[in-house]
Amino acid sequence: MKIVIDFDLCQGHAVCMGEAPEVFKVDEKGMLTVLLESPPEALREKVEAAAEYCPTGSITIVD
Ligand code: SF4
Repeated sequence: MKIVIDFDLCQGHAVCMGEAPEVFKVDEKGMLTVLLESPPEALREKVEAAAEYCPTGSITIVD
């Protein structure tokens, strides 16, 4: 599993960090950092929730 972010769409809502803090970090300026670009399978559910609930649809999971 690999995470691809469309940074043109991302608006720093930090929903992703709420769902999967092991993988996504949003700083106080709303800048997103992906901590694990290829997260382990154990985190799949959390990453899928982050992708689903991201309000701008910025997160794509590539298998
Ligand atoms: S939830 Fe979506 S828009 Fe918000 S910081 Fe994460 S990727 Fe960006």
